[in-house]
Amino acid sequence: MAKILSTEGIPTRFVFFCPGCSCGHWFDTKIWTYNGNPDKPTIRASILVHGNGFRKKCHSMVTDGKIQYFDDSEHELKGQTVDLPDFDEIDLIKKDPFFKGDQTCR
Ligand SMILES: [Zn+2]
Repeated sequence: MAKILSTEGIPTRFVFFCPGCSCGHWFDTKIWTYNGNPDKPTIRASILVHGNGFRKKCHSMVTDGKIQYFDDSEHELKGQTVDLPDFDEIDLIKKDPFFKGDQTCR
């Protein structure tokens, strides 16, 4: 079980499942820092996914396996902190290095 998945093709790119958006968001360790623990991940800085016609804005911070949503998020978990779900069994495009939330956030 893991809350963070690596991707094939781009070794610095990782994915977590966002329960606010019900899809994956990726981050790249060229930009963010990651403690390397897929069970209790901490990622810095915050992760901002811009909204568009299909997707709500999502602004979050991942600490010790929990995801905190800032008040400027537009989905129903804004202002809340929840556990990141284990990602292993979620049937999405896990291994696609170009996996982005907007491929499944609809
Ligand atoms: Zn999200």
